[in-house]
Amino acid sequence: MKRQSSFLANGPTLYLVATPIGNLQELSPRAIEVLNSVEYIACEDTRNSKKLLTHFNIHKNLLAYHNFNEDVSTKGLMELLLAGKSIALISDAGYPLVSDPGYNIVKAAINADIPVVAISGPNAALDALVVSGLDSRHYLFYGFLSPKTSAVVKELTSLRELPYTLIFYEAPHRIQKTLKTALTVLGNRQAVVARELTKLHEEIIRGDLLSLSLLDDLKGEIVLLIEGYKADDVIIDYSKIMAHIDADVKTGIKAKDAINEAAKKWNISKNELYNYYHQNKNQ
Ligand code: SAM
Repeated sequence: MKRQSSFLANGPTLYLVATPIGNLQELSPRAIEVLNSVEYIACEDTRNSKKLLTHFNIHKNLLAYHNFNEDVSTKGLMELLLAGKSIALISDAGYPLVSDPGYNIVKAAINADIPVVAISGPNAALDALVVSGLDSRHYLFYGFLSPKTSAVVKELTSLRELPYTLIFYEAPHRIQKTLKTALTVLGNRQAVVARELTKLHEEIIRGDLLSLSLLDDLKGEIVLLIEGYKADDVIIDYSKIMAHIDADVKTGIKAKDAINEAAKKWNISKNELYNYYHQNKNQ
């Protein structure tokens, strides 16, 4: 067991400082004070962080700490901490360690009995959760899904029966595919896309996975939230419906009639199924 008294020791401290996810006004006075007080600031991308720090007139030695050099730079940062220098770790946005680098240095500092202190601030997942309208009492933050669809199916299958709101970070070029995969694996649950949080083009789109998967204008930085499992969830197999419609069409039935019949049979919206069919029929 290790007990840390964060503010009683005189030695060096590793501060984890949250920085804005868009709106610069969200860097707190306490964050500014800590960034001004430390000897070094470790950051993901020195060019990015320099812009932020210059905006706040903070001029410090910047050290690069990112995914590609985490091992080497953990060693370097530990040497500085052990030599009595305090360090603030920041990432490009939000909290370090939250889908961002930092875990290794935190583990190493804890092992060396150096206090690790969080300086609170913005986080995209929590902003999205509280405005989503989905259950915020219990939630699971997953972060980024794999870039490979087959791996995403596995990951979502492992989450399928969790009765908690699911929170994902997603890139704009993958969001449509992810929504479609989620629709197939989880069924047509309520879902929310929160994009460009705290920025001019912030938009919260609340709907279900089917209607969201039909949008083709989801740009910018995105948090995807999906309602948790409910015992009466019905998982509709959209690939089966597509095959059913295709089979009807091959017998000479008009696509529109085949879609109407399928919508009735599976009790889903005609219009949405029509759009889904035409967006996905050649894939
Ligand atoms: N450390 C950050 C945090 O605490 O939220 C997350 C960093 S992660 C590398 C970047 C991802 O977070 C983006 O791809 C996006 O999914 C999400 N994100 C960051 N800023 C956002 C914003 N302003 N609006 C919506 N999502 C955002």
